[in-house]
Amino acid sequence: MTRRASFELAEKIIPAGKQVSVKIPAVRLYTDTPMDLHVEVFHGVKDGPVMLVCAAVHGDELNGVDICRRLIKKLNPKRLHGTVMVVPIVNVFGFIQQTRYLPDRRDLNRCFPGSDQGTLGSRLAHLFHSQLMCKASHIIDLHTGAIHRSNMPQIRANIKDPVALKMAEAFHVPIILHAKELDGSVRAAASKLGSSAIIYEAGEALRFDQTAIKAGLNGVLNVMKEFGMVQRRGSRVKFEPLVANSSQWVRNENDGVIINRIQLGARVSKGQILGYSASPHGEMEQPIRSPVDGMVIGLSNIPVANEGEALFHIAKISTEQISEAGEIVDSFIEDFDSRVL
Ligand SMILES: [Zn+2]
Repeated sequence: MTRRASFELAEKIIPAGKQVSVKIPAVRLYTDTPMDLHVEVFHGVKDGPVMLVCAAVHGDELNGVDICRRLIKKLNPKRLHGTVMVVPIVNVFGFIQQTRYLPDRRDLNRCFPGSDQGTLGSRLAHLFHSQLMCKASHIIDLHTGAIHRSNMPQIRANIKDPVALKMAEAFHVPIILHAKELDGSVRAAASKLGSSAIIYEAGEALRFDQTAIKAGLNGVLNVMKEFGMVQRRGSRVKFEPLVANSSQWVRNENDGVIINRIQLGARVSKGQILGYSASPHGEMEQPIRSPVDGMVIGLSNIPVANEGEALFHIAKISTEQISEAGEIVDSFIEDFDSRVL
């Protein structure tokens, strides 16, 4: 039997059946300390897809970092079909500073594909794009809500790309939100390369959320199973994820304190009260209503807001899907709350 060819990354040779840590020199910090992009590569014994799993493109989004850490402990290159590159921290600057952004306040996820002569963000994006993304057929980019905002575990993908849709469905979280690629994002650059990328969004920035982490790790392994890369038992709870074609943020129409009456995953109908905006002096109390039928997939955790601030993120799903959604979300949350992974 002929041995599978080696995999090459940043001049390192990774033989079939091996796990190798590859540290790609990125930039120097101004302390004159070298900074690397650290990649764990698992080159399987058999042929298969090349999957890139990355986290902390936004430096304060930490659930994905722990998903990657757990994934690295689980993968075995001797039983793997294909190749997996895991990058727990893409935006190392933001991670060190506990911020979403780069030191020049740019958003790395708007800098792709980047250039080796551009801004700091553009150079980091270029390194990631030219060294890793170019080699990947499938990309899973792990994110969380922004600071003080929580997201229910969800996949964002361009569902018109059949491979991305297959990845999204296999991930097995209650809802898939169709989202066009934003200019400069990892997903947009991946689509130009002809590879398929999905985003997993769960929890909030600067927190570890155990349900989000367990569901994320399970999701990544589910996608690998779907594409024949690993073998594993199927999910304990079976359901068809709901697909929402669009979503809408509900904004505060008054300044004041916010009395929240709704939780993540709640099914809401048009006109339903989501909470109240009130004066701290007890005078005015205005209901905040859902403008659409749907499911609450994101919300603000700060109970004070100015006019115009985003409070609730609602995925639009039809009234027929709403009762079905209830069962899906409840069984999903119960399953992951009880799991030890
Ligand atoms: Zn993010």
